[in-house]
Amino acid sequence: MEETRVVTQGARTLVIGLGAMGSAAVYHLAKRGHPVLGMDRFRPPHPHGSTHGETRITRRAIGEGEHYSPFAIRSHELWREIEREAGRELLTPTGLLVISSPGGSATMHVAGFLETTVAAARRYGIPHELLSAAEIRGRFPAFDVDPEDVGYFEPGAGYLRPEACVAAQLELAKRLGAELHYGETVLQVEQEGARVAVRTDRATYGAEQVILSAGPWLPELLGGPDLSGGSRAWPFSVTRQVLYWFAPQESIAPFLPERFPVFIWEPRHAAEAFYGFPAIDGPAGGVKVASGTYGETTTPDTVERAVDERSVERMYETLVAHCLPGLSSRCLKAVTCLYTVTPDAGFVIDRHPEHDRVVIVSPCSGHGFKHSTAIGEAVAELVTEGRSRLDLSPFRLGRFTTR
Ligand SMILES: Cc1cc2nc3c(=O)[nH]c(=O)nc-3n(C[C@H](O)[C@H](O)[C@H](O)COP(=O)(O)OP(=O)(O)OC[C@H]3O[C@@H](n4cnc5c(N)ncnc54)[C@H](O)[C@@H]3O)c2cc1C
Repeated sequence: MEETRVVTQGARTLVIGLGAMGSAAVYHLAKRGHPVLGMDRFRPPHPHGSTHGETRITRRAIGEGEHYSPFAIRSHELWREIEREAGRELLTPTGLLVISSPGGSATMHVAGFLETTVAAARRYGIPHELLSAAEIRGRFPAFDVDPEDVGYFEPGAGYLRPEACVAAQLELAKRLGAELHYGETVLQVEQEGARVAVRTDRATYGAEQVILSAGPWLPELLGGPDLSGGSRAWPFSVTRQVLYWFAPQESIAPFLPERFPVFIWEPRHAAEAFYGFPAIDGPAGGVKVASGTYGETTTPDTVERAVDERSVERMYETLVAHCLPGLSSRCLKAVTCLYTVTPDAGFVIDRHPEHDRVVIVSPCSGHGFKHSTAIGEAVAELVTEGRSRLDLSPFRLGRFTTR
């Protein structure tokens, strides 16, 4: 029997979804002493949404747009603070190598990725080096670059452990007084005047504000009768992504972090860009690589989670064999994950156009993790102070024609 609870004296803000964005939001709200209730249909970290697969690239000069850099810069400060508070390593700086080729057609998320990365590094004083193909070969021999390729190296970049970041922020949030409910699914969100009613499979809650950080389930929640905005066409679509871990041909040595930084590569010969990580778990773990796939849309409940042999072969033949010939075709592991993308590959962090007490925090088009703790902080400022120190205006929903 459903119980009805009105959380007037308790939580003032309710956070729906405790993955990358929601765990950061509850942590930063709790850190401000703000009464917050967070809930998730699973128990994060978990492998059903967008925040699993062991590693995420983090970099501060952002090729998707210079306006993202303040979030990445702030996140790097915050990850270090969270590491100290939680007593575990979250960010490992291996350096980042971006490789691109003038005239090539592969792009990472947006056109002009390398040029924007360099511009952002100059604008924000982020230490970096520009490398020729010969210099890339000399320093990082596993990358079989073309003579025309050029490189950008950011020594302070590296990778984050997404599952540990989520777990750490949830633990700290709890320690700071946040109420967290796991295994509870939100079914309906409805703003009634100055309050928002949230109906779950267990109870109905009331809160002053709601943060909607449901990751790839966001389109489903926004499609419900109370949030849909009538005929509004929301700019989110969910796409299936696959992560692959390939074994080395012979020695793992060229793929260890000292010789092999995290990388983003727009190869001259290929139609698509790809990215990857050093062999952080030695030969048994292999080298993780992935490219972005944007064809068919899906949902988290219907997506095919199994990865077939054909996809593995395609990844090896089109990208790995050409670019990283020291890797073999032996795939040690492959995992499915979900991007929720917008038409311009940008973020949406904004109040709902019809329900001003509902803040939408999108899953960020496949490049949001590195920014997530600063996004959580900015959203906490938005709901507690009415505005954030970092500029959220580039992420307004109004930039899309939604009707
Ligand atoms: C393959 C892949 C590689 C990526 N690589 C990078 C990278 O290298 N660098 C980078 O910066 N970013 C990267 N990203 C992007 C980044 O991981 C995402 O931006 C981020 O993880 C999205 O987090 P989220 O909180 O929006 O979603 P999630 O972490 O999926 O969280 C959503 C949560 O909401 C919960 N939920 C959903 N519906 C309900 C409901 N009705 N009731 C209660 N709870 C609900 C879910 O259980 C889930 O826990 C990558 C993403 C993928 C998929």
